[in-house]
Amino acid sequence: MKTSTHKLRVKLETTRLIAFALSFLVLLLSPGSRCLSGNALDRLRPDRLEAVEKAVAAMQRNRQPVRLKSSLKDYRCVIHVHSFLSHDSRGTVDEIVQAARAAGVRVVMFTEHPDSETDFFVDGHRGWRNGVLLIPGAETSGLLIFPKASVRRSLSAGPQKLADAVRATGGLTFLSHVEKRMDWELKGLTGTEIYNTHADFKDEVGLIKALTNPLTLLLQIAPVAERYPQGVFAALQDYPADYLRKWDKLCAKSPHTGIAANDAHHNQGLRATYLGDGRVRLADALGESIGELDVAKIPLLAPLVRGKPPGDVVMAIDLDPYLYSFRHVSTHLLMPELSEAAVREALRKGRAYVAFDWMADPTGFLFQARGRGRTWPMGSEVRGIDGLILQAAAPLAGQFRFLCNGQEISRQTGRSAKLLVPKPGVYRVEVWLQLGSQRRIWILSNPIYCRAG
Ligand SMILES: [Zn+2]
Repeated sequence: MKTSTHKLRVKLETTRLIAFALSFLVLLLSPGSRCLSGNALDRLRPDRLEAVEKAVAAMQRNRQPVRLKSSLKDYRCVIHVHSFLSHDSRGTVDEIVQAARAAGVRVVMFTEHPDSETDFFVDGHRGWRNGVLLIPGAETSGLLIFPKASVRRSLSAGPQKLADAVRATGGLTFLSHVEKRMDWELKGLTGTEIYNTHADFKDEVGLIKALTNPLTLLLQIAPVAERYPQGVFAALQDYPADYLRKWDKLCAKSPHTGIAANDAHHNQGLRATYLGDGRVRLADALGESIGELDVAKIPLLAPLVRGKPPGDVVMAIDLDPYLYSFRHVSTHLLMPELSEAAVREALRKGRAYVAFDWMADPTGFLFQARGRGRTWPMGSEVRGIDGLILQAAAPLAGQFRFLCNGQEISRQTGRSAKLLVPKPGVYRVEVWLQLGSQRRIWILSNPIYCRAG
């Protein structure tokens, strides 16, 4: 059996419901069960996933075009994507482009782990593929880099020298995996990740514990993942407070464009193959064997293998296909047209916002400064704050939080909000949505830098 690349696929035969019910018993009896109370695991309760799915469908119906108009168009871009050119992914370009199209993503910015065999810039994926624009880049030395020429000779020069080398080509540099480098101060960066899917996942201690237990994965996670694939993926999502604190500090010194890191690999999953003789082999999503189970010792597995010939895949679960990663979060770019030059320009100027698209399509979201008969888009530096007004609008009603230098200074509810700039500072907006009983972050704008006149 072949695992589908764009759909979570779980084969649990008729025993699924019984196994699911029994799995809670397994969980209750397992020694680590007290630890399984993390945020994500709680969100994996079927009743909560059902409520979230209903709320998402309702929001889709309530969307209305944003009234404030902009001369720039809104394009979805995913940044921090690995393919088979990275050691920890087997993703093909076709698979990635197909996922991008299905998720409404127009730009894919690759970040391969460099190796000695290839040059990510020369050999990487680039140009138009089936309506999707591909841009090569790398994840290395704690940075995401998108040079405009090969920087192979600078790859081991250390972060600052590498960043300088990328900048010398006219390229872009972003701080990556900020959780590991809260004290870093590099000069001349384009910006920083303000959300990273992998980092968000890493703090879900309870969920990780559950995922590393093949039985829990098979019997508890797999059934809900089959029914609510996007909801299960999104269960890991938290407000990235640490990342934002670091970003606010960086922006206080100089403009830094905030981006979302999808950190997409398509390498999390499990495949169980019946070997005959009452043995089941488990392999991870990259095909590496992670052990064997003895059916005689785990009676819950017996119905899965009954009557199966050796070699049969009795269950496969695919937790992070590109499609779900791309639907989860993206960086929206505000551009006059879709081209590599325009993408680079939007990222350099901070004409971008981060959105958790899985909740609702934010396309059209606007945050701008207005005054003296003109407007300034996100990312702008505005001199003189007399009578300057900040305006924000979204296609859904939500809670708008205006922040100045990282501190909330106003909170408003509705489809739009505005603020008379009270003092010079770095201003950004967050939009939160109510999803059933949960209040979740939806949109993170880039700042407008309001300077004294
Ligand atoms: Zn990565």
